Amino acid sequence: MRLAIVGAGVSGLSAAYALRASKSVTQIEVFEKSRGFSGRAATRRKNGASYDHGANYFYSEDPLIRDIILNQLPTDGLVVISKPVFVFGESGEITPGDLERDRGEKWVYQPGISQIGKLLVAAVPAERIKVHFEKRVASLERAERSARWTLVTTTGDRFGDFDGVLVTAPAPQAAGLVCSGSVESWAEAGSIKQALGAELALGTYNTQITFVLGYDKKLTSELPYYAAVNTDRKHDIAWLSVEDDKEGHVAGGNSVLIVQMASHWSTANYEHSLEDLLPSVTNKVSVLLAGDQWKSPSWSDVQKWRFALPNSRIDTSRGIFATSAAQHGLFFTGDYTAERGRVTLAMAAGLQVASKIEEFAK
Ligand SMILES: Cc1cc2nc3c(=O)[nH]c(=O)nc-3n(C[C@H](O)[C@H](O)[C@H](O)COP(=O)(O)OP(=O)(O)OC[C@H]3O[C@@H](n4cnc5c(N)ncnc54)[C@H](O)[C@@H]3O)c2cc1C
Repeated sequence: MRLAIVGAGVSGLSAAYALRASKSVTQIEVFEKSRGFSGRAATRRKNGASYDHGANYFYSEDPLIRDIILNQLPTDGLVVISKPVFVFGESGEITPGDLERDRGEKWVYQPGISQIGKLLVAAVPAERIKVHFEKRVASLERAERSARWTLVTTTGDRFGDFDGVLVTAPAPQAAGLVCSGSVESWAEAGSIKQALGAELALGTYNTQITFVLGYDKKLTSELPYYAAVNTDRKHDIAWLSVEDDKEGHVAGGNSVLIVQMASHWSTANYEHSLEDLLPSVTNKVSVLLAGDQWKSPSWSDVQKWRFALPNSRIDTSRGIFATSAAQHGLFFTGDYTAERGRVTLAMAAGLQVASKIEEFAK
């Protein structure tokens, strides 16, 4: 079977990893709209620093996921953040958090969290997998009298002859993909398409803007925590963390803060530019950390996440997904199928859908 995977995030690459020795799924092609692996488990390099501007760290108590991370994949570069996560409420007072809640290890890779996707794909034999970067899939087609899928990109490129397609884009984007395709031979295509699109459109996400603030001085030594998280969701800052606490990310003598703004603030300010927003953000950071030294970073960066974390769950293993879609080789997965938006839950989702694909392929 030839399988196309839309999206090189953690869920899609975990599915590819799970199928790396499959007797039935022998060819996998991954189509990714960006230039790199791992989606929202994202790392960028700037001004000599590496920083994770999406997911901050990952962890799992699931024995299968632990086995993959700690035994099956290479562990050189896998490091643990040792400092704790503190908490703050609307008032902005930062205090030690609930140690029970913060008990799991905080895993990250020295080169950055996006290493996870690179390791997963590197474990798939090269002759079985091909990755196409900067290919945004616009629609899926299933031509008349054919049991094969064709992917059409936004630039009009067509990639055809796939027996199955796994869509791993966030649910609202997956809904758009399904609804824009042409599926002439897909039994009752119109109604199935609309019904699938409607189910996927129920998956909603919060929006977050991440700011990265770089300082050419070591300012963070005194902070007793790696990160502080807003627990009542009433503060404009949702999360603030110290990237220097991740081994290998920031050169000595410098500091980098990751500031993830709350959903309400991010939604209200989504259309504004970094330049417009930066003074207000650095001001909020300096109030939260009680010091004017935070007001003037030497450099900064921003990432807008329209679909940051899912706030509803869709079970793509049942109903119309299991019947009409999967029977035609069309599968969906991603963090929106799990309890919450987490790197390791997206991994588990990818592994699970891989077993459904394997069954279909037999
Ligand atoms: C700001 C932020 C902070 C977070 N913090 C944490 C954390 O600390 N710990 C944690 O465990 N998790 C965290 N998460 C959540 C975690 O990053 C996600 O749950 C997980 O990475 C989702 O993986 P995924 O494969 O489901 O989706 P994605 O990572 O979104 O992967 C989907 C991929 O599909 C691609 N794509 C989409 N549409 C198309 C298309 N039409 N054609 C081609 N490609 C397409 C995307 O570019 C992307 O690469 C955070 C997320 C954000 C945004």
